[in-house]
Amino acid sequence: MRLSRYFLPVLKETPSEAQIVSHRLMLRAGMIKQASAGIYSWLPLGYKILRKIEAIVHEEQGRAGHIPMLMPTLQSADLWRESGRYDAYGPEMLRIRDRHERDMLFGPTNEEMITDIFRCHVSSYRDLPMTLYHIQWKFRDERRPRFGVMRGREFLMKDGYNFDLTREDALHAYNRHLVSYLRTYERMGLQAIPMRADSGPIGGDDTHEFLVLAETGESEVFYDSEITDLKFGDRKIDYDSHDECRAVLEEFTSRYARTDETHDPELFAKVPEDRQRQARGIEVGQIFYFGTKYSEAMGANVVDPDGNRVPVHMGSHGIGVSRLVGAIIEASHDDKGIIWPEGVTPFHAGIVNLKQGDEEADAACQALYDSLVTMGLEPLYDDRDERAGAKFATMDLIGLPWRITVGPRGLKNGVVELTCRRTGESEEMPPEQAVTRIGQIYARKV
Ligand code: ATP
Ligand code: MG
Repeated sequence: MRLSRYFLPVLKETPSEAQIVSHRLMLRAGMIKQASAGIYSWLPLGYKILRKIEAIVHEEQGRAGHIPMLMPTLQSADLWRESGRYDAYGPEMLRIRDRHERDMLFGPTNEEMITDIFRCHVSSYRDLPMTLYHIQWKFRDERRPRFGVMRGREFLMKDGYNFDLTREDALHAYNRHLVSYLRTYERMGLQAIPMRADSGPIGGDDTHEFLVLAETGESEVFYDSEITDLKFGDRKIDYDSHDECRAVLEEFTSRYARTDETHDPELFAKVPEDRQRQARGIEVGQIFYFGTKYSEAMGANVVDPDGNRVPVHMGSHGIGVSRLVGAIIEASHDDKGIIWPEGVTPFHAGIVNLKQGDEEADAACQALYDSLVTMGLEPLYDDRDERAGAKFATMDLIGLPWRITVGPRGLKNGVVELTCRRTGESEEMPPEQAVTRIGQIYARKV
């Protein structure tokens, strides 16, 4: 992409309405525009990152054997009357009446709808286990939408639902989700710690939230600092193996880590004092096992091997896709702007031409651009007729992890400059070498 042809409405001023750094940077970098309270348009740069995050979520769901689909945003109230949640949900649910006076709602979540699909089409244990998921916009009429996309009213969520014959199988599905979530967040450059949580209006006993530690997080958390040393990394795992998935769950949940809702000061006191931490965190996901709550209420049964009709065991599992964009920025930025982890960066590298219109510099930039594209990468070429300082400021603000700077002086010596956004370190090298280097960096990551 050439910047001169892109739509990147960066702001010079710091918007006064934004209270936290990720919201400020998303506005300044031209990623989003507020449409109304808690509802945003995703401008091209923001949209690109949202799509990258979605792609990682899809890939990791696929790896775990979960099946993608898409359910609508508008739902019939009747389904929610069956589960009893139409009245229970409260003012967060946006209720709508259509022209035929039918009660509808903008889905805040999809347990009822997926259970309805399941009961219409599945009747035998032979079709289990099954996990279906979608990535779809949700609406919750939050009392205090704030912090930009972090607490929106309309937001994008991945929500998945497992259907299993037995409690044991459903707990395996729970563990499998925990493993796949660990991988998902790490690929986005995040450490998201599974913490024991409260089940809220979804109901159920077993639930963990995934929290990214950040001062601006809305949740208060208590944990044993040892937990921050754990990494899932690129270990191989057999998602069908109950033992392997359970071992990962045990490894990542055996140390004290809880949100304030379930915090137990007596248990916490048993953690060695120098390891006790109290901090704030951003909830980027949650997994639930809730057994037969919805299947019993809505008649989602299967015939078991003995010929009996039994309600299926279910769970639901969510990732805050749009909130993650803000969470990643909270975890990765500096005074100059965003620093995208390589896994989610909107463009793989920026090319800055220090002297637009200089024949040699223009040609060298174009050659770099073409080589990167040939490697399957997507560069952003700042070909505007702007001062070098302004070009650098834009690149730093939008946070591309790597920048190649091209100028007539360097070219005389046959070199360009490769700069790492995170460390600020620059190195001069021939253009081909810069391309190879960037190719290697992304080959490692993807
Ligand atoms: P919260 O406690 O933050 O209100 P929740 O527990 O009600 O969230 P879930 O039902 O667990 O939310 O939804 C799954 C994920 O969707 C959450 O972990 C969070 O990352 C994201 N999410 C929930 N509400 C919002 C919102 N208003 N704006 C953006 N993302 C949200
Ligand atoms: Mg939650």
